[in-house]
Amino acid sequence: MVNLHPVLYKDFEDKKALEGINKIFNEKRGYAFKMPKRGSSVVIQVSGGLDSITIWNILLAKYHLHVYPVHFLNRKKTFLGEEESVRHYSRIFKNLYPDKFHEPKIIEAPSTNRVNVPNVNFINPKIILNNLLFNRKINKYQVLLNYGDNPLYERFFNVYNYAQQLRATVARDLDTIITNFVAEDSTISRNSTLAVLRSINLSLCLMLGDFSWQFTAPLEKGSGFYYGKTQLIKYAHTKGVDLSHSWSCMFRGKRQCGECATCLIRREAFSKAHVKDRTIYVPIRKRKSLGIRRYIRKTLANLFEGSGKKTIGRIGAGNVSFNGGSVIVLSKDVAWEEIDGKVNLLHSKTGEIDILNQSGSLIWEYLSQGKYSFNELYSMLSKKYGTKNAPIKKDLEKFINKYIKEGYLTVS
Ligand SMILES: [Zn+2]
Repeated sequence: MVNLHPVLYKDFEDKKALEGINKIFNEKRGYAFKMPKRGSSVVIQVSGGLDSITIWNILLAKYHLHVYPVHFLNRKKTFLGEEESVRHYSRIFKNLYPDKFHEPKIIEAPSTNRVNVPNVNFINPKIILNNLLFNRKINKYQVLLNYGDNPLYERFFNVYNYAQQLRATVARDLDTIITNFVAEDSTISRNSTLAVLRSINLSLCLMLGDFSWQFTAPLEKGSGFYYGKTQLIKYAHTKGVDLSHSWSCMFRGKRQCGECATCLIRREAFSKAHVKDRTIYVPIRKRKSLGIRRYIRKTLANLFEGSGKKTIGRIGAGNVSFNGGSVIVLSKDVAWEEIDGKVNLLHSKTGEIDILNQSGSLIWEYLSQGKYSFNELYSMLSKKYGTKNAPIKKDLEKFINKYIKEGYLTVS
């Protein structure tokens, strides 16, 4: 997505891992993924969002498949917008495709779409760094990270149980389960990448000793089963299906808010597709409930206090003083990771990120290996570069100064 993209990576998709897993599938069954034949059966997870609703439509209309939808229901929700959406489109599809339509199976499950706000106090900051996104629209760092009660695995096994039943009874040709991730999701969440899905598929096949099962999403570029939100909206439009009853909002109001991250993504997709968005949005601020307002503030709050701000005056000492004998150490508030030969720093208090150049990265490596004084560092660098000169010393001084000031280094 243009406005939301990984900070340290071009792409979250792990192509190497995917290639490796595909190779295993190719050896075991001759293909990594193959679209089920016309007239056969498929199970799809339907959340009630515009993606899953339209994929359901595509599987019926374009691929002519018997579609068995599964919807996970959370009874705790105050308003069941998603469930209403599933009911609404069930009526429409039953009408449009009577011979391929099957009633959704409702499975009760704990909440979906839980907004996890990663906290450096209980998640390794390196993991946050690894999943970090930058939201250009609001100029802030954000993270979409599934941890703890990750519903993906649990749900998949629930869906699979249902699929087994179907295969044993009414759908003997069933071997494919489709979940509702689309292209955009895989660019902002590792959880939604094809490599992760394929790895779950592999685990399942290994556990069962049955390599006929496919578990995937419309991320299959090779076979043309690949969709983004804009395309989905255009598709629904050409089929005359009004998507305004689908539910994207992460909040449980009577209407969708139009302001939260998932609403924004939805609206952006409608505008890109040049299709009029008939959804009625009611901004949260117009609602009476204070509880919701507080919740919004909390969930949309910065990942880290003060992130996105350029000022860093609160951190570190204003006047840095060190001498040749001063021992320089890494601040405990800094998480770091070497990616492509460059050290990436994340300050867990400010949310600031810094990517060091080659020589900066080298100094950082030294500092991570032991306790060295300024003079020791200088002699290590001179040895490494095979010269003792003033510029090296000056650069080292500048580096240490800057990073002490910004709170990445401290003098012990
Ligand atoms: Zn919303």
